Amino acid sequence: MSSLLKKIQELAEQQAHANIAARRHLHSHPELSFHEFETQVYVEKQLHELGIPTQRIANTGVIAIIEGKNPHKKVVALRADMDALPIQETNDVPYKSQNPGVMHACGHDVHTSSLLGTARILQSVKEEFEGTIKLLFQPAEEKAPGGASIMIQEGALQNPSPAGILGQHVATNIPAGKVGFREGMYMASADELYLTVKGKGGHGAMPDQCIDPILIASHIIIAMQQIISRNKNPRLPSVLSFGKFIAEGATNVIPNEVKIEGTFRAMDEEWRADGLAKMKKLAEGIAESMGGSCDFFVLKGYPFLKNNPELTRRMKEAAIAYMGADNVIDLDIWMAAEDFAFYTHHVDACFYRLGTRNDDKGIVNGVHTPNFNIDEKALHVGPGLMAWLAIQELSLA
Ligand SMILES: [Zn+2]
Ligand SMILES: [Zn+2]
Repeated sequence: MSSLLKKIQELAEQQAHANIAARRHLHSHPELSFHEFETQVYVEKQLHELGIPTQRIANTGVIAIIEGKNPHKKVVALRADMDALPIQETNDVPYKSQNPGVMHACGHDVHTSSLLGTARILQSVKEEFEGTIKLLFQPAEEKAPGGASIMIQEGALQNPSPAGILGQHVATNIPAGKVGFREGMYMASADELYLTVKGKGGHGAMPDQCIDPILIASHIIIAMQQIISRNKNPRLPSVLSFGKFIAEGATNVIPNEVKIEGTFRAMDEEWRADGLAKMKKLAEGIAESMGGSCDFFVLKGYPFLKNNPELTRRMKEAAIAYMGADNVIDLDIWMAAEDFAFYTHHVDACFYRLGTRNDDKGIVNGVHTPNFNIDEKALHVGPGLMAWLAIQELSLA
């Protein structure tokens, strides 16, 4: 096995320039969620050049199969997301976005080019492993209901069904050349809350003639935070944040209604449902008890992301073998959401992070910012590592 490891490392190094070229091409041609038409064609073309057949899915997604020896032994799926964000890039680089107002600001160009690199490596060593690799290039990670949910609905995890799935995401807080893993709960579910509190507006000097929706909404916000502090199991991370409170009255005008918007995040599906039900009941009850009413609307987002502990432990050990213990770190829980989470509720999964930071080069900006960038050293690491992890997993019975 160690000679195969060496071979993969050498292939990865030889192909790094091709991975970087692919990343730069994708970076300069970003497309928004569910509109990854050119990206889809690019991915197909790259795979066809390698002799890997493809199949379309989820409108703008691509599935490809690489069969090793004894292809029915076991299947492992590898996933990359392909969409960009509605952000105007401010980086002054030769490969900057050519699409005004659209930017690969979450590194999905890196994930896609890395998985193409992984495919190139796996295709050239396919006589040296047993089993099947299923490549999932999915659309629309950034937009509800999430490309992953559509991929699953359209059968991405069937025919053949993978025993496990791996995904990676760039990490701007981890130096390029390192990767991070975490077993168990890793990222949060994220639901959007939209509340409309209705009262009866009027002159601010005569509150007795009114039903003040501002006061009602204020009570609702405070009471809802108490659900987090009093009803939630303290061992489970959960967040409730309100970022919008619109009351269009004036110093002397009580408005008719108030709109509040927020986000509720959790790491447990039972608590997620229970917490939402409690919040709705509380908000409606408070509003009613004060003479008003509350419309409580939830836009359901992605579920929480759980990394299968055994699979993740194996992948971390395999990563240590590939790149050394100094370059493999443990991750903290992160309350952001990611649609890879959908896969993790269907099949054993491991979502890990690929370091892209470089303080010396000033590459420090976070994802979803107009000057996000990566140290492309990450593309010397990502493709080979994922190929090695997949082969390790296939090698188990
Ligand atoms: Zn993102
Ligand atoms: Zn992302």
